[in-house]
Amino acid sequence: MELEGRWQDLDKLLARDGNLVGPGFEPGPELREFLQTDCRVLCIGAGGLGCEILKDLALSGFVNVDVIDMDTIDVSNLNRQFLFRMSDVGKPKAVVAAERVNARVAGARVTPHYCRIEDLPPSFYSEFTIIILGLDSLEARRWMNSMACSLLEYEDDGSPDMSTIKPLVDGGTEGFKGHARVIIPGVTPCFECTLWLFPPQTKFPLCTLAETPRSAAHCIEYAHLILWSQQRAGEEFDADCEEHMKWVFERATERARQYGIPGVTYQLTQGVVKNIIPAIASTNAIISAACVLEALKAVTMCSSGLNNYLMYTGSQGIYTHTVAYEKDESCPVCSAGVLLQAPADATLQQVIDLMLAHPTLGRLMAHPSVSHGATPLYMRGVLEDGTRANLGRPMAELLRGEGVEAAALLTVNDKKLSAPLRVRLRRRRRRRRRAAELDGRAGCRGAHACMCMRAPRFV
Ligand SMILES: [Zn+2]
Repeated sequence: MELEGRWQDLDKLLARDGNLVGPGFEPGPELREFLQTDCRVLCIGAGGLGCEILKDLALSGFVNVDVIDMDTIDVSNLNRQFLFRMSDVGKPKAVVAAERVNARVAGARVTPHYCRIEDLPPSFYSEFTIIILGLDSLEARRWMNSMACSLLEYEDDGSPDMSTIKPLVDGGTEGFKGHARVIIPGVTPCFECTLWLFPPQTKFPLCTLAETPRSAAHCIEYAHLILWSQQRAGEEFDADCEEHMKWVFERATERARQYGIPGVTYQLTQGVVKNIIPAIASTNAIISAACVLEALKAVTMCSSGLNNYLMYTGSQGIYTHTVAYEKDESCPVCSAGVLLQAPADATLQQVIDLMLAHPTLGRLMAHPSVSHGATPLYMRGVLEDGTRANLGRPMAELLRGEGVEAAALLTVNDKKLSAPLRVRLRRRRRRRRRAAELDGRAGCRGAHACMCMRAPRFV
């Protein structure tokens, strides 16, 4: 049953014009209708951030939502992953989260996928209007980013083909800190362009620990890193051994007393030594809200999108800041790559021969291995036996198995290369598909559904 006035707040954004709307925004009831019919959102992760994102999506008027999570519910999740109850412990997060949202929000259609992101083919991911990441792993983010970028096609002049753009909204939290960012592959920096944002975990400088400790954590790390090797030389520290942890705790307490520093506890000692960062429910709520708002903006253009990275710190008051990061034009994941034209019926061997004969590519490689996304098509070395048969198969057939119909981005590796090279393979039956698209027969549903109407506005 539809409650009267249920969407009145949403309609204030979608049915009225204003000074802050995105370029080309056309207010009207069609936008809400689009959200509730054709628009499909994929949420990756049903954990701390994922629970919040699913709830926010359902309450913001999104109806067709899919969620992927490979984890099961643990008792330690229950303090913040509010869609789960004690009786759900051990069940798949995606399944329970979908059930709860569907039961609670009338009309919501959340579809769970209890699997790894790598288990689903590109054709699955290409179905969605927008993808939101609520992940805690760098590797999973990189995988999803490369998947979204692999769906991107470039025009002959090297500009991105707007109809193939799959926007990503990425949220992340760590204690009281968080970020929300919008990735429009080919337009704004992708995850790989700004990988330096995720430096390896650094510990405190040793001189601070030894000479000028200022916090309880400094005292703990002093006991853990310096005193341990001095006083228990030759003995390996084991973070899971209670006697070891107690030893560090006691030395840290002693040092904190010398310097008049409060706050050393056994729990904090464990946290610092094991590098445990507490998950904060309010941080998840704030970052999720930012992500879902960006998704709403991106698919309806009711406001200009975030450009392109929002950081949040909640440890001392509430602070946010927006940074416009720049695209790396030579990014191996989202840049245009080298264009290679091939006949529609070319086999993999013929494509490799074309690469070797290509004026630029030919100089860079001698014995290339070729893959598409994470799937090896032809590999040298130990995988050669398993992939040699592919050489004689038509490229169209190999890629169709991968869910790719027309142009495809191949990753090429060669002993002569220091990093993989992107080759944009264009097969010559593309014109017909474009014509069909313009006719509206191949997925373009017109102004409200088609990303080609929207993405440039993020520039
Ligand atoms: Zn990139």
